[in-house]
Amino acid sequence: MEHVKDNVYAELISPGCNVGIITTEKGTVIVDTPLLLSQAKAIRDELASQNQKPVRFIIISHPHGDHIIGTDLFEQDVLIIGNRKAYEKMGKHDPSWVREWVKSWNWENQDEIEEMAAAHISVPEIIFASELTMELAGVEIQILPLPGHMAEVVGVFVPKAGVLITGDALFNEHHPYMGEANVALWLESLEKMRALKPARIIPGHGPVCGLEAVDRQQRYMEKIIAIRESWNPEEGEKTINAHALSEIISYYPLHGRPEEMMRARIVESIRVAGQPRF
Ligand SMILES: [Zn+2]
Repeated sequence: MEHVKDNVYAELISPGCNVGIITTEKGTVIVDTPLLLSQAKAIRDELASQNQKPVRFIIISHPHGDHIIGTDLFEQDVLIIGNRKAYEKMGKHDPSWVREWVKSWNWENQDEIEEMAAAHISVPEIIFASELTMELAGVEIQILPLPGHMAEVVGVFVPKAGVLITGDALFNEHHPYMGEANVALWLESLEKMRALKPARIIPGHGPVCGLEAVDRQQRYMEKIIAIRESWNPEEGEKTINAHALSEIISYYPLHGRPEEMMRARIVESIRVAGQPRF
């Protein structure tokens, strides 16, 4: 668990997603979930060793598998919070979907694959339309929409600490996944992040950062848009400007993923830049 600022911590899980952790006298709030029981146990043990209260609320930033697979790995009485769009999408999840998703990760440890494939995912119990503010023992926690990566994304801002937890509205040092995106809305969400003036940011993936990572992701997305504008998809992906494409591939590290896989993902991002998915 990395101490981010004041009462906010992060568990940076890779592969998987970052878990934001906000401690209060009335219980701990986490944003998104780990993948494995051992990872949840590490968070629980560390909270206990610091005399912090157990996890009482889980806020779902958005319903992608790597963020929600561990909803049932914490205390029995934990309450799950999500917006209506996430609630509706999560209601459709079933174990076969998890199994397919897990396979796509080329995971090496078979026992872990089995564990994740068997995970039961709980849907949100506290459901809100657009925004929600909580106040726990004097700690204000604002949940606000940051759509773009997908329609359902929310961020969590702790004003007193000046910490923003973005879910996948921000990828730091990772290629953003744009396969279900609306790029124009995503750029607006980056602007919303700047307006909050956060001192520290816990992104959905990658190290804890500041607003410089927002600027960097914006430049990445603008490059994608520029490639899309000079390309006619009907002419096929071989006609994409090769220099611009390799510039995008090398923009962020590949984290062990084959370059071919990333290339295919980026070509998809370029298509999506001209054709929003929601
Ligand atoms: Zn995501």
